[in-house]
Amino acid sequence: MTELRIGHGYDVHRLVPGRPLILGGVEIPWEKGLLGHSDADVLTHAVMDALCGASKLGDIGKLFPDTDPRYAGISSLELLRQVASLLAEGGWTVVNIDATLLAQAPKVGPFRREMESKLAAALKIPPDRVNVKATTEEGLGFTGDGSGMAAHAVALLEKL
Ligand code: MG
Repeated sequence: MTELRIGHGYDVHRLVPGRPLILGGVEIPWEKGLLGHSDADVLTHAVMDALCGASKLGDIGKLFPDTDPRYAGISSLELLRQVASLLAEGGWTVVNIDATLLAQAPKVGPFRREMESKLAAALKIPPDRVNVKATTEEGLGFTGDGSGMAAHAVALLEKL
């Protein structure tokens, strides 16, 4: 019988000048970037945490501690590839992922397809299994005033 598992991920990073803005593995031209130990790709981090949650791998803080110098400045897509390997070892297949970026600016609509393709490629699944969307929070809170970005993701896994 097919076993199904769902997972949720949530992440936040601060926006600061002098850093590239990487979202879903895509560098987006913007006056600020996300601060973090890795490339601080908040969207990919939420996706990884959803996958970790569904597969009972814990969370990305446990898998890739931010005190470990191996992960300094690392591409989060590389970390996602490592999560994909762990999922495969456990016999899990990704059914689909739905991720939402919370950001006041910039508009990421033009980059959505590329983000979906990069996330799907890292997971070795077809791009139609990954959905990326974005919303503002109407100028409210830390996403609204541009001091940070947040992301949510859900993932469904199956084991045959
Ligand atoms: Mg993070």
